[in-house]
Amino acid sequence: MPGFADRLNGIGISASAAMTDKASALKAEGMKIVSLSSGEPDFPTPEHVVDAAIAAARAGDTKYPPQDGKPALKKAVQGKFQRENHLDYALDEILVANGAKQIIYDAMMATINPGDEVVLPTPSWISYADIARLAGASIVSVPCPAEGGFRLSAAALEAAITPKTKWLVLNFPGNPTGACCPRADMEAIAAVLLKHPQVWIMTDDIYEHLIYDGFTFCTIAEVEPRLKDRVLTVNGVSKAYAMTGWRVGYCGGPRALIAAMNNMQGQSTSGINTLAQAAAVAALNGTQDFLKDRAAEYQARRDLVVSLLNAIPGVQCHTPQGAFYVYPDISGCMGKTSAGGRLIATDADFVMALLEEQQVASVQGAAYGMSPFFRISYATGTDTLREGCRRIAAFVDGLK
Ligand code: PMP
Repeated sequence: MPGFADRLNGIGISASAAMTDKASALKAEGMKIVSLSSGEPDFPTPEHVVDAAIAAARAGDTKYPPQDGKPALKKAVQGKFQRENHLDYALDEILVANGAKQIIYDAMMATINPGDEVVLPTPSWISYADIARLAGASIVSVPCPAEGGFRLSAAALEAAITPKTKWLVLNFPGNPTGACCPRADMEAIAAVLLKHPQVWIMTDDIYEHLIYDGFTFCTIAEVEPRLKDRVLTVNGVSKAYAMTGWRVGYCGGPRALIAAMNNMQGQSTSGINTLAQAAAVAALNGTQDFLKDRAAEYQARRDLVVSLLNAIPGVQCHTPQGAFYVYPDISGCMGKTSAGGRLIATDADFVMALLEEQQVASVQGAAYGMSPFFRISYATGTDTLREGCRRIAAFVDGLK
């Protein structure tokens, strides 16, 4: 057989996608799976957003779009950054792509040379590491321990930066822990970064609107304007507007970086689906009132899941202030044997046995770089969450 590219060595399907696929396959076989593995809002896309896409299709908005995004969407993104983040980006400092994921891909592919390092506060979303490796970088993890609420400390960051550091990725509120970054922490992080002009800073703000307990979101270019010419502010409509399938992400950043990323994108997907762009315009320019209601609903779910999990001996769950994940510590379960006779030596063993014996789909902490933990998404209804936690409790209770 003709061969494959070396750059794919060690790059696989993401653990959460693998778990979601396995759970779907078991569901198709008739098993009653409780799916807590997917990072996807269960709410529908708002009606006015869907209507905008239908209207665009009927109006003939069906031709190749500009590669960097239609002017109406770039203006909507510009308005969003001004309104919500107090950031001024010119239209040629904005790029639209197929999801925040493609923005991240464009940015890393357009900047990384072999030998460069990418600093990831860890645990972190798996795709940052995989995309960085695809681009030829090595990963430098900065541990953000549970005891500190999975927050990034300026001292730990300082210790991780070297002359080879090309990117630091920030993601607060974050996947997989829901950790947030208070303004004082962000200021301390910014002070470190001011000393290291060789570092690009990517802030993935996709969970910006999913914040709880009155937390105030901030983003680094707003907190420290002197860094703005090195910051790529990444966002998208997937999580806030329940638009994961529409595939619209966007960013603001320095003109030269945006031009390089646009060049990269031009050789892969070009501009994105015109109807999805019309939908995203409606999402960003339309009413934002429902965001608060949805955040309140997520907060209630978080409270439910955290209290149910903390009632399980052997499981310790922190209370995150953002996103829709919890990342409980399961060190108390390691080294035991499940009711079905499986040795639980790692968090991967834990989630696999939990799926097979209690039909609950979750994701092992190893996928995010910190073990032994597992990730649960609470972007699902409370009945499902109660049932999922009941089964997790039964599973852990059966460990001997
Ligand atoms: N960033 C983070 C932190 C995510 O969790 C996800 C989705 N899992 C994405 C980006 C991808 O977003 P999009 O759907 O816009 O590609």
